[in-house]
Amino acid sequence: MTAAAEEVRAGARADEEHRSDVCVVGAGPAGLTLALLLLKSGLRVSVVERSRSHQREFRGEILQPGAMTVLDRLGVLAGARARGCHEHDRFRLVEQDRVLLDIDYRALPAPYDHLLSIPQSHLLAELLAHCAEFADFEYVDGCRVNALVRDERGRITGAAADGHVFHSTVVVGADGRFSKVRRLAGIEAGRSEAFDQDVLWFKLTSRTPQVSHDVRVFRSAGTSPVLAYGSWPDRIQVGWTLPHGGYRHVVSEGLGHVKAELAKAVPEYADLIDEQITSLRDLSLLDVFSGRAERWAADGLVLMGDAAHTHSPIGAQGINLSVQDAVVLHPLLVEAVGRGDASAAFLSRFEERRAPDIATMMRLQGMQSKAMLSTGTFATRVRPKLAAVVKHTPIYRKVLRTIAFGNPAIEVADELFTVR
Ligand SMILES: Cc1cc2nc3c(=O)[nH]c(=O)nc-3n(C[C@H](O)[C@H](O)[C@H](O)COP(=O)(O)OP(=O)(O)OC[C@H]3O[C@@H](n4cnc5c(N)ncnc54)[C@H](O)[C@@H]3O)c2cc1C
Repeated sequence: MTAAAEEVRAGARADEEHRSDVCVVGAGPAGLTLALLLLKSGLRVSVVERSRSHQREFRGEILQPGAMTVLDRLGVLAGARARGCHEHDRFRLVEQDRVLLDIDYRALPAPYDHLLSIPQSHLLAELLAHCAEFADFEYVDGCRVNALVRDERGRITGAAADGHVFHSTVVVGADGRFSKVRRLAGIEAGRSEAFDQDVLWFKLTSRTPQVSHDVRVFRSAGTSPVLAYGSWPDRIQVGWTLPHGGYRHVVSEGLGHVKAELAKAVPEYADLIDEQITSLRDLSLLDVFSGRAERWAADGLVLMGDAAHTHSPIGAQGINLSVQDAVVLHPLLVEAVGRGDASAAFLSRFEERRAPDIATMMRLQGMQSKAMLSTGTFATRVRPKLAAVVKHTPIYRKVLRTIAFGNPAIEVADELFTVR
């Protein structure tokens, strides 16, 4: 069925009608942070989520200081942390005993001088609990948006899902990297193969309660890089990066071969891999890509988070950027609803403000990815020495601050809050 055929006209399929100022599709970090900001500013918000639980296994768990700052301002961070998390000090690229790249967050000012490994379920549950305190909040889960509602002039005025119609001044597509809303609006995903990798994603259970305080990428000759970090409570999250299609080749040699390759890449966890990976079903293969939607707004619609710009897991930026998107979009939506102007021209101010930050981050991720994947004498001998020298310069501190906080000018517009 074409996107146009899937669309419904207002009122055509009104099983259960819902009305709000803003209808957010997708209760991920982007959608729920935005919902809370809008509710605090006195708007009526509906959030539609296809899943009934917060268990999103194949999602990022590493929070950067920028996202922590925003969540703290919203009063959400402490409660999310109390549900369980680990602090990590450094992001390190290691090859046998050598550290090729070392990003040390302890150089940043407290209290955001670390990375946080926190299950997304903890973050989402806490955000949702805060939203639920508002009478003007409506949360409909187990409901997959499959159509957009348009008025007689073709402007988007709502979304429809499994017997529900959500009418609103603005629809926000916060439904992730495979965004259905984006597709229904006829907007190209702008997928790029810059990070030409698949990721084999799995967890191991640690034998000791004390997990490493570093997020590490292990490299060794002849194997693809492996990401590993301590995941709450006693797990080790492992991500083995493979060239697109590479898994089929590795797997054709059998489970024993996959385990041997993994053990070679992360000898430290060889015993756990041997003991705990008993079937290929213990491993999940994820298609990893980055992209930037060709435009982020249409009349009545704006895209944010992964739906607007998708990032590779390199450097753990997706949640950070999604949460900050909400901060940038918030005052624009308050104004759009206040003026009754949900035109593409007005809503595309979001893209104008945010696109340069996204481009900067994609460049930095490209550099991190190159450092991770490149081999040869320069990469393994010369660059670590250069990096050690650069570490004591203002350039390093600037890059570290950008990776950790993104655009420093992004501030929660709490002057718009009617409730604090
Ligand atoms: C393997 C992997 C590891 C990663 N690691 C990190 C990391 O460590 N740190 C980091 O910051 N980022 C990481 N990321 C990226 C990060 O997970 C995303 O950038 C982030 O979750 C994006 O948030 P979002 O709210 O935009 O979208 P999502 O988190 O994808 O949320 C979208 C929501 O929309 C819902 N939805 C989808 N379609 C519909 C529909 N039709 N109707 C209703 N609801 C719908 C989904 O169920 C979901 O709840 C990783 C990504 C991958 C793939």
